[in-house]
Amino acid sequence: MISPRILIIGGGIAGTTLAWLLHDRGLPFLIVDRDEPATSSKVAAGLLSPITGIRLTLSWRYETLYPEALAFYRDKEARLGLTFYREVPTALLLRDDKAVAFWQKRREQPEIMNYVQPTSGPLVNESVFDNPNGGFEIKHSGWLDTAAFLQASRQYFQQLGCWQTGHVGMDQFDREVIWQGQTFTQVVFCTGWEAAKHPWFDWVPFQSAQGTVLQISADIGSEARIVNRSCWVLPRGDGTLRVGPTYEWQFQEAYTASPAAVAGLETKLRELLKRPYQIHGSQTGVRPIIRGRQLLIGRHPTRAHLAFLNGLGSKGVLRAPWVARQLVEHLIESKPIEAELDLAGNF
Ligand SMILES: Cc1cc2nc3c(=O)[nH]c(=O)nc-3n(C[C@H](O)[C@H](O)[C@H](O)COP(=O)(O)OP(=O)(O)OC[C@H]3O[C@@H](n4cnc5c(N)ncnc54)[C@H](O)[C@@H]3O)c2cc1C
Repeated sequence: MISPRILIIGGGIAGTTLAWLLHDRGLPFLIVDRDEPATSSKVAAGLLSPITGIRLTLSWRYETLYPEALAFYRDKEARLGLTFYREVPTALLLRDDKAVAFWQKRREQPEIMNYVQPTSGPLVNESVFDNPNGGFEIKHSGWLDTAAFLQASRQYFQQLGCWQTGHVGMDQFDREVIWQGQTFTQVVFCTGWEAAKHPWFDWVPFQSAQGTVLQISADIGSEARIVNRSCWVLPRGDGTLRVGPTYEWQFQEAYTASPAAVAGLETKLRELLKRPYQIHGSQTGVRPIIRGRQLLIGRHPTRAHLAFLNGLGSKGVLRAPWVARQLVEHLIESKPIEAELDLAGNF
């Protein structure tokens, strides 16, 4: 019989990754999640790419975060007997003259070129994808099937009695952590964007963005890479494609995509894809983004029994294994947290 001591609220990528790290250290925990059908982690495309954004910059600490993420997910695949992560190149098609100008600069930078795969011939089949400005192929990119990873992890932890479905009220834990009659030494809030509504963390400057991904089918020939120009097209290997994303910084109702945002995504898709396509569905979630910060972790400034792991933004798959380890080492070994990531230091 396990006696949980750390309560993890939220079973998204943040909470699930943290749970694995505690499990691997033999530390008792209970993860409680509402089990909603669509959350940020469940709808995420799970993409990882070293070169990102309009300016084609190197993703924050990719050289450290990617090997750790890869090792983490491969280890879980080996233990659960499933495949979650597919390392596939990304064909990055330059969207306009500005992007071409950025690329001219970036190709002088060895730290960027470490992630560029030399190619010969046309980058993509131009009867399928429109590519007037050229582009390049990114290596060490890929995608995690987040829904499959979360589902398999959940089943594993449920069998061990460390996973429970439920809603944890946020107006508690002032002096101690007691939930459903069980006492814990620590609670870690991995509640995603909704932490902005919690009384303990309503001072954290969240600026979260809703996003939508479409499921489509289209004949894209033999293309198996992620193709990206203004929007990405992700072949899942089962004949279906995912297309995304939208960014909605203002949204009235969470998990409900605005028709304008979806229409904008479709416009980008039509500009990229020359072939007819059929939309089969869409999924919407809210990315937890903290203004001016990559993410924040650590203990609440006045209540040490309350901890926080949040702000994974649009790169949760890449960041979660590394950042969850930083938090575990802090909570268990009292290792200091880097100033820029420390929750208490940003109070
Ligand atoms: C459209 C879209 C596309 C994306 N694409 C990518 C991508 O390609 N690559 C990438 O790395 N990232 C991507 N992301 C971002 C990624 O999804 C996030 O970084 C990540 O999911 C955040 O995980 P989280 O665990 O912090 O939050 P969440 O996934 O929101 O998890 C929080 C969990 O806490 C639970 N919860 C909240 N409050 C309570 C409570 N009171 N009691 C119990 N449970 C509670 C929720 O039900 C939820 O399960 C995308 C996001 C979206 C929306």
